[in-house]
Amino acid sequence: MKIIDIIREKEVTLSFEVFPPKTDAGYAAVEEAAAEIAALKPDFMSVTYGAGGGTSKNTANISADLQNKYGVNVLSHLTCVSSTKEDVRSMISTYKEKGIENIMALRGDIPKEGRVCYDYDHATQLIYDIKSVDDSLCIGGACYPEGHVECARQSEDIMHLKEKVEAGCDFLTTQMFFDNSTLYQFLYRIREKGIDVPVLPGIMPITNAKQVARSVALSGSTIPQKMKIMVDRFADNPEKMKEAGIIYACDQIIDLISNGVSHIHVYSMNKPDIAAGMMRNLASIIR
Ligand SMILES: Cc1cc2nc3c(=O)[nH]c(=O)nc-3n(C[C@H](O)[C@H](O)[C@H](O)COP(=O)(O)OP(=O)(O)OC[C@H]3O[C@@H](n4cnc5c(N)ncnc54)[C@H](O)[C@@H]3O)c2cc1C
Repeated sequence: MKIIDIIREKEVTLSFEVFPPKTDAGYAAVEEAAAEIAALKPDFMSVTYGAGGGTSKNTANISADLQNKYGVNVLSHLTCVSSTKEDVRSMISTYKEKGIENIMALRGDIPKEGRVCYDYDHATQLIYDIKSVDDSLCIGGACYPEGHVECARQSEDIMHLKEKVEAGCDFLTTQMFFDNSTLYQFLYRIREKGIDVPVLPGIMPITNAKQVARSVALSGSTIPQKMKIMVDRFADNPEKMKEAGIIYACDQIIDLISNGVSHIHVYSMNKPDIAAGMMRNLASIIR
């Protein structure tokens, strides 16, 4: 089923993200984790894509397994930064052969060692290409409540976001953020500029201390004082830290739903216990 139709049909949705293994040897473990998350019956699951495309086969296979073996709606990611137009067309064909109807269209991070291919500069170009192959696919795009790291001014980032949506995004999913007021300000600014597609907030449960530094390095997201204090208090006790992180994320989600932002995407990081903890706390609110 198309994500946009799920969002239109249901008042509240909860979805989880998994990432594919980097090597074939890791496939079974990821498939098992993905199956356990699928058993929680989220509204859909997304499967990320290695920016260089090296693990694209695993993204396609995990996506197909989730959809066909476990009956979960799937959003398969596709990045273009290191791909030729032929690579992209071939990947779209693979997704279509596997019955995938939803693609998260991304540029991907520019590799530190430099780019090997210049067919795509931005996700917008990828979206035009996907649409030219099959206009019926449901397409998601990424957005950044605190601004994308490469863009000095948020107004420019929002202008490019508008171009991306006009290219054919059915919905947007946000980068992680830990203070909901950041999202509410962002929503105000993009709605003011006429970006009116659904925005799915991306929530990352912070369940161990190392994750804080890693998340900031990857996303540039601001860590609020409330989270810093929580991590400081529980970092040395993994069980308490995990539970506190799940509850912090659930608290964020309850506030979002209370304020009418009710299609939530959780970065569950291949961790069925964390996804289950979220579901346990939220089940009666989202069903
Ligand atoms: C929800 C979500 C899912 C993600 N999934 C993955 C994944 O599976 N695999 C992965 O490798 N990475 C993933 N990422 C990370 C993403 O690839 C990086 O953040 C990347 O740097 C930007 O990708 P984008 O699609 O947002 O790029 P774009 O939309 O192309 O934007 C990138 C930058 O270019 C600017 N820009 C856009 N158009 C123009 C223009 N015409 N002229 C000048 N500047 C312009 C934008 O303002 C922005 O600063 C994800 C991010 C999010 C938020």
